[in-house]
Amino acid sequence: MSFAFGHPALAIPGPSATPDRVLRAMHRAATDIYAGELVQVNARVVAALKRLAGTTGDVAPYIGNGHAGWEAATTNLLNRGDRALVLVNGMFGAGWAAHARALGIEVEELTSPHGQPADPAALASRLADDRDHRIRAVLCTQVDTATSVRNDLPALRAAMGDHPAAFAVDAIASLGCEPLRMDDWGIDLLVSASQKGLMAPPGLAFVWIGPRLKGGTDLVTPYWDWRPRVAAQALWQYWGGTPPVQHIYGMDQALRMLLDDEGLDAAHARHHGLAQAVWAAFDCWSAGHPGLALTVADPAARAWSVTAASIPGATGLRDWATRHMGTTLGLGLGAPDPDNALRIGHMGHLSAQSLLGTLAVVETAMTALNIPHGPGALTAATARLAGLAGA
Ligand SMILES: *Cc1c(COP(=O)(O)O)cnc(C)c1O
Repeated sequence: MSFAFGHPALAIPGPSATPDRVLRAMHRAATDIYAGELVQVNARVVAALKRLAGTTGDVAPYIGNGHAGWEAATTNLLNRGDRALVLVNGMFGAGWAAHARALGIEVEELTSPHGQPADPAALASRLADDRDHRIRAVLCTQVDTATSVRNDLPALRAAMGDHPAAFAVDAIASLGCEPLRMDDWGIDLLVSASQKGLMAPPGLAFVWIGPRLKGGTDLVTPYWDWRPRVAAQALWQYWGGTPPVQHIYGMDQALRMLLDDEGLDAAHARHHGLAQAVWAAFDCWSAGHPGLALTVADPAARAWSVTAASIPGATGLRDWATRHMGTTLGLGLGAPDPDNALRIGHMGHLSAQSLLGTLAVVETAMTALNIPHGPGALTAATARLAGLAGA
């Protein structure tokens, strides 16, 4: 029988749940785009985006998804034939590298072993060999959503030393979920998108630009050029045409919730706590079952927004969880053995109630499908949250 009748639960790593308040703000007819309230709302969104990234630099908004953000970032950053060093920890780092290569950039990949973060020493040694400074940019993800590996951005920046390459970061899966301080950490370029930690529907990409970058590359085309967007006077100039009216209202509410109502530090702590509950559950499930394991062994290198794991029969488990429990889990994207891997998204507008439901669904599915697993996972997850929440 099925227990799926109820509000469907989406536990994939993006798009994440959209808060009712954001949806309500978006549920409106188009407004004037030349004057009136929307102009102020847009200005508030732009200011909030800078606060969110911890920068006094510029931000260019685009209508598009994360891939659009990649294209905006890469084409404004580099000229045709420039060399970029991409630190790869999974499918998204590899995806950014492939995207840049297709644009005519000479891409070199520094790939970490599966489930491991980029090694600052390896980066330092590669850059030390680059005596004539052919490498113009170092690109990496903060969190690779496929493996749930989290890179230590300050350590990587420090490893770059005084090499002049720009440091460009994809924080699409992590911004809003864990700390990122663009200016303090020496990040020159940051990319993110609306639909993961930022709690709005897919459709907006953002590129933040530090003072070292000047734009004006030979790869950039008029729509993607960030210069008119960061210098915008009129609303249409921010967006390279008609602004996405409803999305701007939605982002405004989402950013207020994140920055003003919950507060960024509290949001990060919530994500960290929920992630620890997931890890505690997996520690129990995997005890004595080596085929069932978190992809990232080192807790310091685990994302706070998504968890990848191998589970024998994961594809069947995911299908069962959707049909019988009404919970959709993430695909084992990019795993060596995708049919025996899955991911749990725990980013954005997510409470303990939803997360505990997801963990209980995973356990129910493993029990129903006779997938061997260790006991005590739900007790461990609840104990962890109880300890963190306090009395
Ligand atoms: C989701 C994601 C992307 C791609 O974003 P789309 O909106 O799917 O184009 C890129 N990088 C990372 C780290 C992501 O999590």
